[in-house]
Amino acid sequence: MSPRPSSSDPSAYQRLREHLAYLEMSAAAEHLADELDRGTREQASATQVLERLMAIEADATRARRLRGRLRFARYPIHKTLAEFDLDFQPSLDRKVLAELSTLRFVEERRNVILLGPPGVGKSHLAIALGIAATEAGYRTYFTSAADLVANLQSAHLEGTASYKMRTYTGPSVLVVDELGYLPLDQASANWIFQMVSRRYEKASIVLTSNRGFGDWNQVFADPVVASAIVDRLLHNATVINIKGHSYRMRRYDAAQQAKGGSAMVA
Ligand code: ADP
Ligand code: MG
Repeated sequence: MSPRPSSSDPSAYQRLREHLAYLEMSAAAEHLADELDRGTREQASATQVLERLMAIEADATRARRLRGRLRFARYPIHKTLAEFDLDFQPSLDRKVLAELSTLRFVEERRNVILLGPPGVGKSHLAIALGIAATEAGYRTYFTSAADLVANLQSAHLEGTASYKMRTYTGPSVLVVDELGYLPLDQASANWIFQMVSRRYEKASIVLTSNRGFGDWNQVFADPVVASAIVDRLLHNATVINIKGHSYRMRRYDAAQQAKGGSAMVA
């Protein structure tokens, strides 16, 4: 058996380790000896050994960047499309969801609007789409509508609104959860309008609301602003209207049904 390359030229090996340390390629440094041994054992070419080593480093960097993007995006909870039980929500068009999961909507700067009553999975799907985009390499950001308004308003009072606005305009996908849970006053409606119009035709918004568009006049104090927001949001959008039951209440519903069933028998 040939000697370990790491021991065949100890000084070159040592310098190589120093280069990797200087370049902060810690995953490659960690696997260096093993990969050199493997190369010798398999009589691999220098190209093959280098490729494997760099693949290890590239994978580690990719994973680290993804963790960074996920941290930046501030999802309140990790949800995936795979975890979503489509059978529970028959009103949901699987084709539409499958199309969204290709993330073409991000490339096309299309918005995704998820509407429906509480508990039907709007936030789950919005977060899952955002996380899928993050995993695909896009920069994304999650906020509730209420937090967005409160943050912009307080930044405004400190004179830093335009800086703060970049948080909401920069990412390729902005997930805005729970618009319409609370009625918005004129100033709040104006911040939503600013965000929507700045992202308009530039980058996607994934938005959830428990109110249909018909009710948005009540959500926003000013009907002119309301229709300006709806106009821009819907211009290039996929709207998903979930009509089913609350997933949170499914055990309760099932218990009630069982009770009803036995009552009829009795
Ligand atoms: P909404 O935002 O519409 O009020 P959520 O998305 O918060 O509802 O859903 C409530 C809870 O139920 C979450 O924990 C979510 O992950 C779960 N959930 C909702 N619908 C489904 C589903 N079809 N399959 C799996 N989990 C679901
Ligand atoms: Mg929700």
